[in-house]
Amino acid sequence: MNNISAHPDSDGFYGDYGGAYIPEMLLPNIQELKEKYLEILESPSFIKEFTSLLRDYTGRPTPLFHSKRLSQKIGCSVYLKREDLNHTGAHKINNTIGQVLIAGFLGKSRIIAETGAGQHGVATATVCALKGLECIIYMGALDIERQALNVYKMKMLGAKVVPVHSGNKTLKDATNEAIRDWINHPEETHYIIGSVVGPHPYPDIVTRLQSVIGHEIKQQFKEKNPGKNPDYIIACVGGGSNAAGAFYPFISTDETQLIGVEAAGKGNETSMSAATLELGRPGIIHGSMTILMQDQDGQITEPYSISAGLDYPGIGPVHAWLDAKGLVKYLSVTDEEALQAAKDLTVLEGIIPALESAHAIAALYKMNFRSDETVVVNLSGRGDKDMSTYKKEFGDE
Ligand SMILES: *Cc1c(COP(=O)(O)O)cnc(C)c1O
Repeated sequence: MNNISAHPDSDGFYGDYGGAYIPEMLLPNIQELKEKYLEILESPSFIKEFTSLLRDYTGRPTPLFHSKRLSQKIGCSVYLKREDLNHTGAHKINNTIGQVLIAGFLGKSRIIAETGAGQHGVATATVCALKGLECIIYMGALDIERQALNVYKMKMLGAKVVPVHSGNKTLKDATNEAIRDWINHPEETHYIIGSVVGPHPYPDIVTRLQSVIGHEIKQQFKEKNPGKNPDYIIACVGGGSNAAGAFYPFISTDETQLIGVEAAGKGNETSMSAATLELGRPGIIHGSMTILMQDQDGQITEPYSISAGLDYPGIGPVHAWLDAKGLVKYLSVTDEEALQAAKDLTVLEGIIPALESAHAIAALYKMNFRSDETVVVNLSGRGDKDMSTYKKEFGDE
């Protein structure tokens, strides 16, 4: 044990990163959340309802699957944490269930969220239907065009999808619009952020809610390997919520090496990548100090990855700090490597992964494991949403 806490200080800082850099008009909203979130998350009534919804609605615990044919190919023991089996197909629902309950404790009846590819929007619209709450999703007009299926799901679930026509008409612009909405309706509205990003206390809230993944890994791994922790845990990193959740209970142990995988798009030497830690510098994005991709004038640059969920120019401040401390090793994987890994997992194990999760699988090929070592890969989501990309890349064979 090295006694490291993965929580920020009372101002929301993880070392140099984090904090709450927000317009003054947002202060009351953030202040209310900051004062109440720990008390809510630790209250027996929150824990009871969160646990029971995760079990009966989402289908938790998700299995830890010993993936034998993939193990053989890699040359060590590989386990998959099956977040792809959650209701709505990914880990994002863990966070939205938790936050919709927080909204209830705060007495808020109106939920807003931003979404890029639509996955967080669908997870938010889902829990709003479950709770009968008004739901407004801000989405860039360009993303709306590209993600017709998710847009229709949100609408069928009863959410209002608001197209954002400013800027590049993508995630960053949708986020600005959601913040504007929150400033205008502070009393009745809770803003559900979809990853470990944004001003304090969001990164800590989302990390705590997603840590159910890591706690389950710890227990399930011990059931299969008495007295032991895995030698490695690997997770993909967009904003970093599935990784933060999977790593969380292991950050203070030296026994387990943690590996975060960013998207390198067409390669870090090209201008088409989303490998923030490798290519970025410190700066402020979405209300927190972190590492982000920017040009020489400090303008945020447009990231690229074949996977919409990893295509984010920043990274959660907790990861910037874990990287600086050397507590997690980060590497990056190209589109091509992720596609190959998706194909391998599909034919070896009968599991079609999300493109994001395929990045974590691809990292297995970049490591040198001993044959007696054990590795858990967090399979953050399933591939249904990516079938048209797979079909385009692999053809009809
Ligand atoms: C959104 C998403 C991600 C990336 O988000 P994180 O906050 O980094 O976890 C990864 N995998 C899937 C399947 C997703 O939908």
